[in-house]
Amino acid sequence: MTRIAPLLERNEQFARTYTPTALGIPAQQLLIVTCLDHRVDPAIVLGLELGDAPVIRNAGGRVTQAVIDDVAYIGFLAGQLFAGQGADDTLFEVAVIHHTQCGTGFLADPGFRRQAATATGQPEAALEASAVTDPHLTVGADVERLLSSPSLPPKVSVSGHVYDIATGRVTTTHDARYP
Ligand SMILES: [Zn+2]
Repeated sequence: MTRIAPLLERNEQFARTYTPTALGIPAQQLLIVTCLDHRVDPAIVLGLELGDAPVIRNAGGRVTQAVIDDVAYIGFLAGQLFAGQGADDTLFEVAVIHHTQCGTGFLADPGFRRQAATATGQPEAALEASAVTDPHLTVGADVERLLSSPSLPPKVSVSGHVYDIATGRVTTTHDARYP
């Protein structure tokens, strides 16, 4: 018996009526970057279905070098797989979504940050840079970071959004654009 046992029962229900989806263009032509917080699951918040959109999640939903690398690879893969499949103008849009009440916000406090650095072995500066205290500010910075990256694949646009934990509403703060 493990903690995941009840979820495996849910999976059994899921598998009973499951139909596999072939690898193809994500149905929504979107790639979502958001926080790993269990209150902001984009499958629930945005009603994503299987095959709709790849999702990259980390603490804060920050555009780190690892995220840029993943976007670059997915862009390359999409370009290889989907050439001539009706995605000539755009491959996909990267939607960066930050949220209110983010747990990374505690990292703005120097004492908390010092303790976190000791406990995790991460540099204090990196932890400070990852903090989301005002999601409107950080999402703007991350949209710019992705747009200015030389690794951003061609035909990939970037947009920014804020999810409000209190209302359940996602607001677009940065319309999709190309570098
Ligand atoms: Zn968060």
